Amino acid sequence: MSKSVIVVGTGNAALCAALAALESGAGVTLLEKADKSLSGGNTKYTAGAMRFAYDGADDLLPLLRNPEDPRVKRADFGSYTTEKFANDLLGFNDGRPLSEEQEALVHQSGATLRWLASHGVKFEPIYSRQSFEKDGRHVFWGGLTLAAENEGVGLFDMELAAVERLGGTVRYNSAVTGLVTDAGRVCGVQIGQERLLADAVILACGGFEANGALRVKHMGENWEAAKAPRDPRKSLGALGLRPAAKTTGEHLCAHCTRTFCANISCARLRINRSLRSWTFYPLQSHPCR
Ligand SMILES: Cc1cc2nc3c(=O)[nH]c(=O)nc-3n(C[C@H](O)[C@H](O)[C@H](O)COP(=O)(O)OP(=O)(O)OC[C@H]3O[C@@H](n4cnc5c(N)ncnc54)[C@H](O)[C@@H]3O)c2cc1C
Repeated sequence: MSKSVIVVGTGNAALCAALAALESGAGVTLLEKADKSLSGGNTKYTAGAMRFAYDGADDLLPLLRNPEDPRVKRADFGSYTTEKFANDLLGFNDGRPLSEEQEALVHQSGATLRWLASHGVKFEPIYSRQSFEKDGRHVFWGGLTLAAENEGVGLFDMELAAVERLGGTVRYNSAVTGLVTDAGRVCGVQIGQERLLADAVILACGGFEANGALRVKHMGENWEAAKAPRDPRKSLGALGLRPAAKTTGEHLCAHCTRTFCANISCARLRINRSLRSWTFYPLQSHPCR
């Protein structure tokens, strides 16, 4: 009998987790707090830009929606090797070695893009922001070369279509309010008064950036002043669920952009004005303490 999997959220993380579970034969239900029109979380706000390791144009062509675009023949995509990717990340690590998650990111990013493309999630070169023209050629820089077709909304649409093709279902207006445990093992979720059991539960319900108290707790008191997009979902992320999900990863650094910084007191955040520029986006991290 196939295993049942609950995935909480419908952003990029949730849809990728759902795809992987469906591929291995599980029955998958995604639970989304928002209604259909607001589903997809922060994923839909993004440019869909993908930082991943590649050795040259041959690695990129199979990922493109339109490899016959005449601009592709006039593009110098260069390379973004695993070594370069690792070095870029080390530059933000304050002397720490790469974490397990960062190692996975560096070494599995290329394969992950190929996997997504095999499910019909296609990409296009970021001509407008990541290349300049020289001698009639589009020269790419910065290792950030492709974005999902139609940016974050396109990424969401293509991934959701792939999930639905494999038989995954989404329940909207279903905010998960807690985890159900049995002998210390998570065996389901609580949606208000309703209890839904499953063989496995995957929390992919986003970050806690919209929650001031959690920002202070995990990042430092200066982050109380930061502004996050006003969003009816006002996510607490997985950390807001009780019993709280185990924490992992690095909470002490983050990047923020002018989108978030408008109207804030930069003195309180101790962010140098020049660091607010878009030009660092999206691989900028600011020590928070
Ligand atoms: C303006 C902006 C631009 C960005 N651009 C890029 C970019 O170009 N490239 C890039 O790689 N990254 C970018 N990022 C970062 C990117 O958005 C996030 O890393 C990514 O969206 C995280 O995906 P996720 O699935 O973890 O969370 P989300 O996409 O936020 O999804 C979380 C989902 O969980 C749901 N949810 C929350 N709580 C519950 C609950 N209790 N029950 C049920 N559902 C719940 C939410 O409604 C939402 O659908 C950008 C971020 C922003 C804000």
